[in-house]
Amino acid sequence: MRSSFKGGVHPPEEKGLVKDSPVVDFPLSSRYYVLLQQHLGAPSRAIVKSGENVKKGQTLSEPMGFVSAPVHAPTSGTVKEITRMVHPVTGLLGPCIIIDADGKDEWLEGLPAVRDPFTMTHDDLMEAVRSAGVVGMGGATFPTHVKLSPPKGKTIDTFIVNGVECEPYLSSDHRLMLEEPDRVLNGARVAMKILGLEKAYLAIEANKPDAIRVMEQKAPPEIQVVSLKVKYPQGAEKQLIKALTDREVPSGGLPMDVGAVVQNAGTCAAIWDACAAGIPLIERITSITGRGIVQPKNVRVRVGTLLKEVIDFCGGVKDAAKLIFGGPMMGIAQFTSEIPIMKGTSGVLVLTEKDTNISEYSACISCGRCVEACPMGLIPSTLSKLGEKGQWQKAAENNLMDCIECGCCTYVCPARRPIVHFIKHLKALSRSAGAKSKGA
Ligand code: SF4
Ligand code: SF4
Repeated sequence: MRSSFKGGVHPPEEKGLVKDSPVVDFPLSSRYYVLLQQHLGAPSRAIVKSGENVKKGQTLSEPMGFVSAPVHAPTSGTVKEITRMVHPVTGLLGPCIIIDADGKDEWLEGLPAVRDPFTMTHDDLMEAVRSAGVVGMGGATFPTHVKLSPPKGKTIDTFIVNGVECEPYLSSDHRLMLEEPDRVLNGARVAMKILGLEKAYLAIEANKPDAIRVMEQKAPPEIQVVSLKVKYPQGAEKQLIKALTDREVPSGGLPMDVGAVVQNAGTCAAIWDACAAGIPLIERITSITGRGIVQPKNVRVRVGTLLKEVIDFCGGVKDAAKLIFGGPMMGIAQFTSEIPIMKGTSGVLVLTEKDTNISEYSACISCGRCVEACPMGLIPSTLSKLGEKGQWQKAAENNLMDCIECGCCTYVCPARRPIVHFIKHLKALSRSAGAKSKGA
């Protein structure tokens, strides 16, 4: 087993609620809510109109820039309205296409377009990934075609499939690797072809011995399955690269700067669907879990399905105190379940009063625990104090932008300081100042 990275924490894994639950298909809904911004980067723009009939897999929006991605119809039906609804990640109102399903679930003509990706050209594979709207499905949602396009001068020699899934409670990648290993491995081989690489790692945390076993049996010789020590955030890109290659991504840098490209296991499966069948990213596996859910499940669900319907499918909630989009460490608390499942929704967590730690925070007691826990070598206590005063310039001098928002500092803080919240606030201030200066 590989050694790990500096810092990190060991929160309770809480995977037992769904790790052994086979994926179940969520039935067709009568209405879907497809947000136009489901990726990092420039938004996408609607190319359909209210009243228009659409087919499953039809492109609904066009990207507005290279770092952007289109969205597609999750089923056949009619565009009811192009409106705005609460975006679960930003918390703001975001543009959204509402589709009323016709119940036929008819594919766009020509889909699926079965073909052999290993006979396709580099450019055709890239176009297949780009036009299918594939984005990082581990939650980061960075457009995949951008990650697979290293700029001139950057030599890539390492491809890593990220099957770590270190976030507590969540098991969507775990189940995918157990139940559909070939989609993951074939997608990885396509990504390797695009990058011109002959070897890759598939990294899995040691707490998934069944997935490690299946992948070791199935993986071709060019993909090495590596078991990694259980430590959060082992699945963060920079920590993963350090654990596997001993290379450190420099401050302000990207994995490409040290010759590495990392793609999540679910993303590899989506790359395969896009290249081998022309199927866009319109569904995913998501873990609906936590002790606040009556029957926690792993559900295959279309993008755009209302979360409330999926929670009802899991028996509803009991003693629910907190709803989180994502896991407990990096997820985002929500005030409503009237929000849609997105491409990056690897899980939804409902916590009970007993599981939550809702209490007032107090002044920093300079215990240093957050500094020890920070996997990025930052001084979170300083950043949190600067955050209270909104001093983003000083925070920038303290490497604010290197923070990966992993939540380790908040997790260990005995004063219960919402450090990540302060850091996100500082980053927002810094970005808005940057935007204003560009506009000036
Ligand atoms: S400062 Fe950022 S990177 Fe460091 S522990 Fe806190 S959230 Fe993680
Ligand atoms: S863990 Fe909390 S109390 Fe301790 S130094 Fe960090 S911010 Fe201060």
